[in-house]
Amino acid sequence: MLFAHIIVDSRNPETDRMFDYIVPERWQEKIAVGQRVMVPFGRRNAGTEGYVISLAEESQVPAEKLKALTEILDEGRPVFTPALLELAFWMKETYFCTLNQCLQAIMPPGIRTKSQWFVELARGSEEPTAKEARFLDFLRQKGGVMPLQEAEEGWEGRLQPILKGLREKGHVVLRQKIRRGEYKNEKKYYWPCEDQELWREAKAQAQKDRRLAARLRVMEALEETSPLSLAELKERAMATDSPIRTLAEKGLLREERQQEKRDVFSLEDYEKTTAFVPMGEQAAALGAMRAELAREKKRPVLLHGITGSGKTEVYMQMIAEVIAQGKQAIVLVPEISLTPLIMERFISRLGNAVSVTHSRLSTGERLDQWRKARDGEISVMIGPRSALFTPFSDVGIIVMDECHETSYDSDITPKYHTVDVAEKLAELTGALLVMGSATPDIVSYHRAATGEYLLLELKERTKGSLLPAVTVADMRRELEEGNRSPFSRELAEAIGENLRKKEQTMLFLNRRGYATFVSCRKCGEAMVCPECNITYTYHAREQALMCHYCGRQVPLPKVCPSCGSSYIRYFGTGTQKIEEEVCRMFPEARVLRMDLDTTMTKNSHAKILELFGKGQADILVGTQMIAKGHDFPNVTLVGILAADASLRSGEYTAAENCFQLLTQAAGRAGRDSLPGRVIIQTYEPENYAVTMAAEQDYKGFYEEEIKMRQAMEYPPFSHLFSVLVTGEKEEEVIHAANYLGALMQHYSKKAETTVLGPSPAALPKFRGEYRWRILAKGKDGKRLAAYGAYCVERAKKEAGRQIHFHMAFDPRNIV
Ligand code: ADP
Ligand code: ZN
Ligand code: ZN
Repeated sequence: MLFAHIIVDSRNPETDRMFDYIVPERWQEKIAVGQRVMVPFGRRNAGTEGYVISLAEESQVPAEKLKALTEILDEGRPVFTPALLELAFWMKETYFCTLNQCLQAIMPPGIRTKSQWFVELARGSEEPTAKEARFLDFLRQKGGVMPLQEAEEGWEGRLQPILKGLREKGHVVLRQKIRRGEYKNEKKYYWPCEDQELWREAKAQAQKDRRLAARLRVMEALEETSPLSLAELKERAMATDSPIRTLAEKGLLREERQQEKRDVFSLEDYEKTTAFVPMGEQAAALGAMRAELAREKKRPVLLHGITGSGKTEVYMQMIAEVIAQGKQAIVLVPEISLTPLIMERFISRLGNAVSVTHSRLSTGERLDQWRKARDGEISVMIGPRSALFTPFSDVGIIVMDECHETSYDSDITPKYHTVDVAEKLAELTGALLVMGSATPDIVSYHRAATGEYLLLELKERTKGSLLPAVTVADMRRELEEGNRSPFSRELAEAIGENLRKKEQTMLFLNRRGYATFVSCRKCGEAMVCPECNITYTYHAREQALMCHYCGRQVPLPKVCPSCGSSYIRYFGTGTQKIEEEVCRMFPEARVLRMDLDTTMTKNSHAKILELFGKGQADILVGTQMIAKGHDFPNVTLVGILAADASLRSGEYTAAENCFQLLTQAAGRAGRDSLPGRVIIQTYEPENYAVTMAAEQDYKGFYEEEIKMRQAMEYPPFSHLFSVLVTGEKEEEVIHAANYLGALMQHYSKKAETTVLGPSPAALPKFRGEYRWRILAKGKDGKRLAAYGAYCVERAKKEAGRQIHFHMAFDPRNIV
């Protein structure tokens, strides 16, 4: 007998373990590890989706107690490659979640089987109670049948006991309906059966009997061409379903379901390009990568190079080599920079070997690309972080472009870091991981600097084009000299000049997150928690400043502690205000604004950029959204209105984020033949994130920042474990947070951790829920995670269901 060890798709964490099922005789040849199947499970008698983790000849459970699996899904082909299954186990261990949640994250979109319970009126005989009768009326009003969940939500009070009574008396039944995700455009194809003798006999019979004329036409049509889809067959034979069905039942037809796989681009639209002869630095990088690729145990590569230094060219040449070896490549790009431009470059170079997946495609189209990869029809997949889970048989290289982007971090369970998952997958598959960035995150660069990663650098721009001229405008001086507008005189002049020259301008207001901070406009000093070196966040309700790491609270100062000035203000000019101000100062300018408000609707983001790209506006005002991945050759001026906003975001990564943003924004200026100019406005012109960004000196910035991280014991010198406690009742949330805090405090000595908080989160209330935060720091990541998970588990039991605990390991932004 053959048994399958299966993980079922259940939300209940208690059932996140292997269950044994009997594999029926007829599927013993077909079944494989990694397949998706249907199994009977618990009260869900209509079937639950399950995943085959392993197969065995024996089971610990007596066979008569076991049920058999009822179906094999996905055309009988595995959804999970062996490497992806292993990756799921690793993710479960690493990211505080169930194996099922990891499998769901890895699975392609749209195939999951969903089931829903319905409550349905039936004919009972026994008299219902008054309460029960009321529910029956309610159900009748809904037409006698409704989803159980809807009934529970629409009913005042507890429905379970009422339903129990009604079911016993036979007045209602619960029925489960299954909705298949599966493939929408499945087609049935037909061939003549293999048995030629049988075929000839049947045909002879049909030729004799005029009543079988339709059957004969079907057979003749298939003799002419096969396979034919059902629709084609019906048309050619001028037949209905009936003769086809009869022939199939008699075993005269071979039937197979096949999926169409839609293309998401047409190769004709792309001009073929060939590889450039690598420049000196590129050649050196390629050589080093080739050597690493040949190694058994490969180090991840960090390719550090400014925009335009030829990183993409290097990726493409490495990928071409890997494909030539018969292996496959995964290329990760942050969703926001998955522009047609980058896709075009890969498709033009590598042709039909490439496919892409991104959010502008339909679920079905994305699934089709996934299936092409599974069936070996393509060798390169380009996409956002989910493309990491492409089911290639033999991945040779994983490229992660703009690897510093925080949008790579998953913000839903499992909350994983793409860098780490990619590293693990590369290890499991033996692939080379290549991470590229102009501004690597500090942790990655530290890993490279200490030899854990292989550091390769591209310092020159391939086209020799100049970096833009960057100047810093000191807003304290502006104020002193009587300028209270959000524009320094230098920037205002430059905007005017650009308008006259008919060149375009981008203005960034890099306000991020929800935090409002307070600083002195005279000396530039921002109020900072001495314990955590984190900028305080202003809380209007308490009229106080608060550190969101340790919870320290201080009253809003009346005068600057540093210079005594009373000109203390909170930051928070919105993009809309800036837009108004621009329009007032330059009435002749055509201005576009892009921020969360103007990009709520789908595609509005792309539309605004398109208008600007076509030159239909002179000035684009926006948040950091506009900093990424877009090429506007006519932009020659970039103004950063308040570098301080990202510098003071209240996170330990604030300086890093600020440096990245300034560098990226600066990179928008003067892309081609026109020289560019960048003006950074700030109240803290001496801050190293600002000065180093102005000089475009990544190394210099890293050296300063790493000192701070070491002194404060932030990553990479420690790991962070963060818990967000949420719930609708404030006192319950506070109680749960305090309980957890005390537990973590209690075990901190043993686990060698430092606990910060509990404190209200930077966003203390969101969507009707109160939010509190606890942080722990520890040197040993594994130990920290185990300790954190243990404490949360205990706090959960104490707190009850209405309180939620959201855990994150090494979060880069703790809002
Ligand atoms: P990055 O990805 O670092 O921004 P790209 O790979 O896009 O850099 O290269 C910048 C520009 O230089 C592109 O237009 C690219 O086609 C061109 N380029 C790259 N490598 C070479 C080369 N070896 N010779 C000539 N042009 C090159
Ligand atoms: Zn001051
Ligand atoms: Zn603090």
